[in-house]
Amino acid sequence: MRVLVVGGGIIGCATAYELAKAGAGVVLFERSTPGAEASSAAAGLLALHGEPAQSELARLKLASWRLYPDVVRELRELTGIDVEHVTHGTLYPLARGEAAPAPPAGGSDLGIEVLEGKDLHGLEPALSPRIERAVFLRDDHWLNNQRLVIAYAQAAARAGVDIRPGSNVSRVLVEAGRARAVEADGERVSGDAVLLAAGAWTSELTAPLGVGLTIEPRRGQMLALVHTPPVLTYCVDGEVYLVPRPSGELLIGATVERAGFQRAVTAEGIQSLLQRALELVPSLAGLPIARTWCGFRPWAPDGLPVLGPWPAIEGLWLATGHFRNGILLAPITARLMTDWLTTGKPSVEVGDFLPERFARR
Ligand SMILES: Cc1cc2nc3c(=O)[nH]c(=O)nc-3n(C[C@H](O)[C@H](O)[C@H](O)COP(=O)(O)OP(=O)(O)OC[C@H]3O[C@@H](n4cnc5c(N)ncnc54)[C@H](O)[C@@H]3O)c2cc1C
Repeated sequence: MRVLVVGGGIIGCATAYELAKAGAGVVLFERSTPGAEASSAAAGLLALHGEPAQSELARLKLASWRLYPDVVRELRELTGIDVEHVTHGTLYPLARGEAAPAPPAGGSDLGIEVLEGKDLHGLEPALSPRIERAVFLRDDHWLNNQRLVIAYAQAAARAGVDIRPGSNVSRVLVEAGRARAVEADGERVSGDAVLLAAGAWTSELTAPLGVGLTIEPRRGQMLALVHTPPVLTYCVDGEVYLVPRPSGELLIGATVERAGFQRAVTAEGIQSLLQRALELVPSLAGLPIARTWCGFRPWAPDGLPVLGPWPAIEGLWLATGHFRNGILLAPITARLMTDWLTTGKPSVEVGDFLPERFARR
């Protein structure tokens, strides 16, 4: 089987790697460089919170999260890249009277506790004394997503994927109701299946095919402070999140904005991030700003990932719409898409994520 993967973000690179491992021939088209867009802009949190505990998305996130320690090991062995996987845990400040969130379904083994007073401030002394209680999720992890996407791309190349950076796919060629090829820089490239992992740009390729799916960008702005010597040991996730990286930066993120593809970091965006960050940890005030940036999360109208075949066009597959969770969801997405493409059946529950939910509208 020969699969044409469009998009070299974390989703395209991870899926190309797993497909090649499973014996498929894979061509990966990336119009810029691997990881150039949302996958590099992210903070690298593998955060399990944020979904209703019983939802299919919560289950998918937990399943992917459980894959991460092995993925990190495997990629390091193959490529030598250390993705800075940190497993210390995250503190979620609680408002007065606010209850701790329930663990996701299947996650009763996760270390969730509520800390207060000396226990809290002894653990993370830099936290503002105004924070009285916080949930400590001992099992929250984070990593360096820029390194992760490069590690997946290198691993994919070693596994035999034909990676084509600088190659723009202008259209998917559908003949007799089947996706048989793509046009990339004027060249026709044929395959047995076309997998669109083009992130926030996916609709550019689906709209001309009459596919009733709209993927929109949701801009996220972030900044990094110089964090040497470190002020924080743990991730802190309040109205903004603070992510200490071993390589010496403290990431502060992120806005979620409907701003089209305007590639801009704004005064208001950075001001709101810094104001909230300093409310959480006042002693960050003197740290130098290392850099600022923004990226475009792929967002589907119901906010959920879009995974699987498009019903009306044989051979056309989608893996997009990962919105705020694409780094966390990459390993499970890659395995799911590989199992599905190579055996014809999905290996996990996918009812909420099927592309056909948009075909029915
Ligand atoms: C500020 C910010 C913070 C985030 N933080 C986190 C986090 O902490 N944890 C988490 O799990 N997620 C986070 N996310 C979300 C996560 O980054 C995304 O869900 C994920 O990166 C999406 O991956 P992707 O591969 O689908 O998209 P992308 O990384 O955007 O990749 C799509 C690629 O397709 C290419 N492409 C598009 N069209 C074409 C074409 N026609 N031909 C060839 N190539 C094409 C693009 O150049 C791009 O490289 C964050 C996102 C942002 C913006």
